[in-house]
Amino acid sequence: MKQLVTLALGATLAAGAFAQAFPSKPVTFVVPFAAGGPTDLVARQLAEAMRKPLGDNANIVVENTAGAGGTIAATRVARAPKDGYTLLVWHIGMAATDSLYKKKQFNALEDFEYLGAINDVPMTLLGSNKLNANTYRDFEAYIRANGGKLNMAHAGLGSASHICGLMWQHAMKLDKSMTTIAYRGTGPAMNDLIGGQVDVMCDQTTNTTAQIEGGRVKAFAVTTAKPLSNHPVLKHYPSLQEMGLKDFNLTIWHGMYAPKGTPPDVLKKLNDALKVALKDPKFIKSQEELGAIVVTDNRVTPEGHKKFVANEIAKLKVVVDAAGQYAD
Ligand code: ASP
Repeated sequence: MKQLVTLALGATLAAGAFAQAFPSKPVTFVVPFAAGGPTDLVARQLAEAMRKPLGDNANIVVENTAGAGGTIAATRVARAPKDGYTLLVWHIGMAATDSLYKKKQFNALEDFEYLGAINDVPMTLLGSNKLNANTYRDFEAYIRANGGKLNMAHAGLGSASHICGLMWQHAMKLDKSMTTIAYRGTGPAMNDLIGGQVDVMCDQTTNTTAQIEGGRVKAFAVTTAKPLSNHPVLKHYPSLQEMGLKDFNLTIWHGMYAPKGTPPDVLKKLNDALKVALKDPKFIKSQEELGAIVVTDNRVTPEGHKKFVANEIAKLKVVVDAAGQYAD
């Protein structure tokens, strides 16, 4: 009996010592898309903002595990050691892939510890500078005449750009849908849009604002219900809803997750550090400049974010089933 008590005490002390020491080696943020794209940018800016609150010497590395619309990275994190050193930074795909992929490698609600949401990001509908259209109305007419001949880039089945393209083409009721081209992220896809190798893309403002401002691509509309009237660059574009696509409203969110079974004290450290980062004025400013809003609502808590994602899974199932397109 005495031995048992000693063992139990030893285990408690070890767990406490572990939490105190966390992090004692680099923490990896796994990003499901290529470097240089919007999810990568959010993860890198967040890593910078979490370094201090996580502990003076916290070393955070960002790793890009691209492919299959983000599901390869999510599977990797779901199966990683449950120690808080391998975390997933992903977007709305966490909810969308639940209905897009019938054969599942992971369960979005069961296989992760939720750490919290990060931001909300509008999207923009873009065309290459080669397109013979300058406003949404021109663009619409052009698409109706040439839709079947155009290429639309996205970041894989289940990516935000894919969902946006699905929703938009469905709402437009196009006779012929565009040919879609999958990339490992919208960072590389943007290079091809600028080069004119693809014609159309819908992507987060965190990736598109600078390109629009620099005149390297044409922007036609924003995906939020209302125009972004307070943003110096994006305020010039109408919302798709204003352009007649009734109820069109799409905002991308990012969140952070650890493998299921990560010790509660480690999760608390991570969530506390995330909360501090979300109040960091430098992080907030750099996100706002790119059209994103850092979350301040109940989603900063693990429970609040999980409830939100469960709701998004249900909402997106309706969208995916209506479009009738699945990944497998
Ligand atoms: N924005 C991309 C998407 O369409 C992914 C990325 O490269 O961050 O999901």
